[in-house]
Amino acid sequence: MRTAFILSASQAIHAAIVANEAEIESLDRAIGDGDHYVNMRRASEMIASMQSELDDQPVDVVLNKIGMKLLSTLGGASGPLFASFFMAMGKTAKENGHESLLQTAAAFAAGVQAIIQRGKAGLGEKTMLDVLIPASTTFTTLAAQDKPAKEIAEALKKTADEGLESTRNLIATKGRAAGLGERAIGHLDAGAKSCQVMIHTVCDLVLKG
Ligand code: ADP
Ligand code: MG
Repeated sequence: MRTAFILSASQAIHAAIVANEAEIESLDRAIGDGDHYVNMRRASEMIASMQSELDDQPVDVVLNKIGMKLLSTLGGASGPLFASFFMAMGKTAKENGHESLLQTAAAFAAGVQAIIQRGKAGLGEKTMLDVLIPASTTFTTLAAQDKPAKEIAEALKKTADEGLESTRNLIATKGRAAGLGERAIGHLDAGAKSCQVMIHTVCDLVLKG
C-alpha cells in the first residue's frame, strides 16, 4: 500500500458513493433515519479534497490524518466507526510496515478490529461488519498464501457481495434498525452497502493496475 494508491482510491470512492446514491439513500431510509448517504458523501468528499495536504506524507500519517478528520467532522454512528478504522490501520501500518499484501491485510484487520471494539458489535448483527469481517478474513488468508493481488481483489469483491447479501435476512441488534425487530428483515443494511461499494472500488483499481 502506497500513499499514491490511497489518494487515487479516495477519489474513486467519492465518485462511487455518489454513483450509488439512490441505493444507499433508500436503504438507510427504509430501516434507519435516511442520513447515511449524506454522511458518506460528505466524508468521501472531504477526504478526496485533502489530496494536496496528504500527497507527500508517509502511508501511516495519511491514514491517521484521514481518521482524525473523520472523527472531528463526521456525525452518525458510522463516523466514529470509520474514524477508528483509519486510525487503527495507520497505527498498524506504522508498527508493522505496509509494503507487502500481508502487511496491508494486517492493517486492514486492525482497522476492522477497531470498529468491532468501538461499536461493540460482531458478525450477524446487520451492520457494516457483516461485509468487513469476512473481507478481512479473506484478505488475510489469501495474502498469507502469497496469492497475487488481482486474485485477492477478485475474491474480496465476491466476499463483499456475499456479506452484503447476508444482511438481508437478519434482524438488527445494533444501530437504529435494532428497534425494528422483524420489520428489518428483507432489507439490506446501508453501512454494509457502503462498505461493499468501497471494497469493489478499491479492488477495481487493483484489477486495472
Ligand atoms: P446513524 O445510524 O447514526 O444514522 P449512519 O446512518 O451514518 O449513522 O450509519 C448507519 C450504519 O452504521 C448502519 O447501517 C450500520 O452498518 C452501521 N452501524 C451502526 N451501529 C453500528 C455498530 N455498533 N457497529 C458497527 N456498525 C454499526
Ligand atoms: Mg442513519
